[in-house]
Amino acid sequence: MIGVAILGSTGSIGESTLDVVARHPDRFKLIAIGANRSAAKLAEQIKRHRPAYAALADETAAGELKRLLGNSAPQTRILAGEGALIEIAAMPEVHSVMAAIVGGAGLRSTLAAARAGKRLLLANKESLVMAGPLLMEAVRAGGAVLLPIDSEHNAIFQCMPHNTRVGTQPPGVRRVLLTASGGPFRDWTREAIATATPEQAVAHPNWVMGRKISVDSATLMNKGLELIEACLLFGVPPQQVEVVVHPQSIVHSAVEYLDGSVLAQLGSPDMRTPIAHALAWPDRIASGVEFLDLIRTARLDFRAPDPDKFRCLALAQAAARAGGLTPAVLNAANEVAVEAFLDRRLNFLDIAAVIEAVVAQSGGGVIGSLEDVLAADSESRRRAREQISGSSAEVRKSGTARGAHA
Ligand code: NDP
Repeated sequence: MIGVAILGSTGSIGESTLDVVARHPDRFKLIAIGANRSAAKLAEQIKRHRPAYAALADETAAGELKRLLGNSAPQTRILAGEGALIEIAAMPEVHSVMAAIVGGAGLRSTLAAARAGKRLLLANKESLVMAGPLLMEAVRAGGAVLLPIDSEHNAIFQCMPHNTRVGTQPPGVRRVLLTASGGPFRDWTREAIATATPEQAVAHPNWVMGRKISVDSATLMNKGLELIEACLLFGVPPQQVEVVVHPQSIVHSAVEYLDGSVLAQLGSPDMRTPIAHALAWPDRIASGVEFLDLIRTARLDFRAPDPDKFRCLALAQAAARAGGLTPAVLNAANEVAVEAFLDRRLNFLDIAAVIEAVVAQSGGGVIGSLEDVLAADSESRRRAREQISGSSAEVRKSGTARGAHA
């Protein structure tokens, strides 16, 4: 039996992971689940899946969770505080850790799982973008096995040679082809995108995901973060990663070899495939996804991304080339800008403008330690908030056009 912990269990990836784990009670034992403050949802998950531990980072919400459970879940010990998620990530009875907390909030627990030598199922791409070299070093030093959950990186991993070591470019690889759906605004004009609402941005055409990554998909920042992620995971420089817009989201990414072969991984757009792949690797298990019907799919289209409409991609490509602390700066500014957009304090196109201004203000610099990353992260968040309070005044003055499409 493989002991599993799910950090971010109340989110979209967390729920898909619970679904796959529950399909294989003979193989997996759910040891622990955790989230931030969704007490009611966590209470339901505890009653249904009966883990040994459950944690909420928010202590008040953890109190609420205890109240909601009463005496109904004596098998589950409730833990509280950010430290509890770190504790879970390193528990001896946990073999595999699903790192599915959204944003920089997932960094410490992801690092803890790596240091403790766990099988690290990495959905929390932001931790790799922020602190890539530190996380990769923690994986090496802890003897952890890192398996990518992002559908693109999981696809690339599946297309790489069997003996691929994460972080090292395998011989014979010419390029990585990173596919992108193009998001909900793929075919919109720049003028229409300028008035996009949060509701429109989170309505992804192919994938059901959390709100933050849905907005990242709409700006194409998600693809930019994934490009940085790909460089770290597969040891390739940014110029060897080509972003290809593929509206059907059937080809999840591909690897081109020196001999001209292109190996791609295909499947229905459902995160349970990469989750099941990583949970069972190197075995294959059922995931519950709908099997791909190529005849019904009929068409697979590919095109180049439009850099004028989606500036976030170019910003992330530049950050990937700069390396050091720049990706952490980019990530922090993006998180703050996306939150402001979701709160209707920032226009859609200003997400890129805020990130660009914050990256331009930052001096970059090398990553010496986790403290360097955390300092760059908090400084960039502060700068992004400053930028946004200026932009919010503009939004109020113009009476915001965002309601136009609502
Ligand atoms: P959701 O928004 O659906 O869920 C986020 C989860 O993180 C929730 O469980 C939330 O808990 C938890 N969380 C948020 N803040 C904190 C915090 N401060 N401390 C502890 N837990 C916290 O996100 P997704 O599931 O969509 O995405 C999760 C990660 O996976 C992201 O990094 C995303 O980029 C990546 N990913 C997601 C994909 C998808 O299809 N959804 C695809 C590929 C990658 P609470 O409910 O209590 O707020």
